[in-house]
Amino acid sequence: MSVNIHIKHAVKRFGKNTIIPDLSLEVQEGEFFTLLGPSGCGKTTLLRMIAGFNTIEGGDFHFNDRRINDLDPAKRNIGMVFQNYAIFPHLTVRKNVAFGLKNKKFPKEQIDGLTEDFMKLVHVDEYADRIPERLSGGQQQRVALARALVISPDVLLMDEPLSNLDAKLRVEMRGVIKKIHSDVGITTIYVTHDQEEAMAVSDRIAVMNAGVIQHIGKPKHVYLRPANVFVANFIGRTNMLEARLEMKDGKAFLRLADGFDIQMDGIRPECMETQDVQVSIRPEEFVLYEGEEPGLDGTVTDHTFLGLNTHYNVLLPTGDEVEIIQESSLQSNIGKEMKVSLQVKREKINIFTADGSENILLGVENDKKD
Ligand code: ATP
Repeated sequence: MSVNIHIKHAVKRFGKNTIIPDLSLEVQEGEFFTLLGPSGCGKTTLLRMIAGFNTIEGGDFHFNDRRINDLDPAKRNIGMVFQNYAIFPHLTVRKNVAFGLKNKKFPKEQIDGLTEDFMKLVHVDEYADRIPERLSGGQQQRVALARALVISPDVLLMDEPLSNLDAKLRVEMRGVIKKIHSDVGITTIYVTHDQEEAMAVSDRIAVMNAGVIQHIGKPKHVYLRPANVFVANFIGRTNMLEARLEMKDGKAFLRLADGFDIQMDGIRPECMETQDVQVSIRPEEFVLYEGEEPGLDGTVTDHTFLGLNTHYNVLLPTGDEVEIIQESSLQSNIGKEMKVSLQVKREKINIFTADGSENILLGVENDKKD
């Protein structure tokens, strides 16, 4: 049985250091939920609190209606997968997968049947009698996944399971993990500091910084309408610019440089006032023109051809340098030192308060709980 997980006002301290001051979140039954944030922000700490390996200094942790704060870790019915595989080196693949079932004293026929089923699910059945050191990293991680899932846990916890694998395998294993999750439909909490991995596998992502959740949402929403400047910078690449929002005749204009105003719709009514703002524009959201077309003037300082796309660095009259990505084209002659004009895909711009704490546009979907 899969469960929903409800965390209310969690607090974690190590000695005098408060790592998590007050964290609440809800994970739906069967959901693939990812904790994403920079190193040291408290992702593993939170995961270990859920698993029962860390003490809980405050708050309530529930699996469905059951409060688990004081429940023995062995009774929480959790499957875990770590970055270092944590499979037994001296046992064959089959014996590794069967391990949890033997511990739970399942009858032999059931152990044999389930072990076979789960080895097949993760495609390691052909290596059933090998020991782990004769498997690749990706295959070992599949064994770890089968071993975690075979006991029918209520919750699957995964802590950076792909970070020991090489780049190509990491991408391949994202697909494997996603497929297995959709086959077994178990509530999953996944920890990573890799934002691209998080976007690829998750139903929803919680972006964390310094023990505090910044934004919870679907990958697309978090990318396109980040809740604050931290999230905009952490998810994907972006150009952050200081700008001014001006009101004229009840309309809002974003002044990116002298003489370059963009009329903006979709600003939250309570934020419709003249103010300094921070603006996030992703590299692919500029449109670059050769020569002096209408737009924001700039000078190319560098460019790199990467096949499908070309990356440009462009110096603006404000002194800011922005990164721009355009689809490569034989027609384009844009090179170093050239004068260019920039247009911006206005519906893609994000505007934040001057302190960066809040996106002032409508359309931010944030499931963060207080
Ligand atoms: P990473 O991606 O590097 O694993 P993380 O977000 O998972 O980072 P945590 O491992 O949860 O971060 O650590 C959060 C903070 O808690 C860090 O400052 C870390 O030093 C501290 N910390 C973790 N475990 C302990 C411990 N047992 N005793 C004292 N401090 C700890």
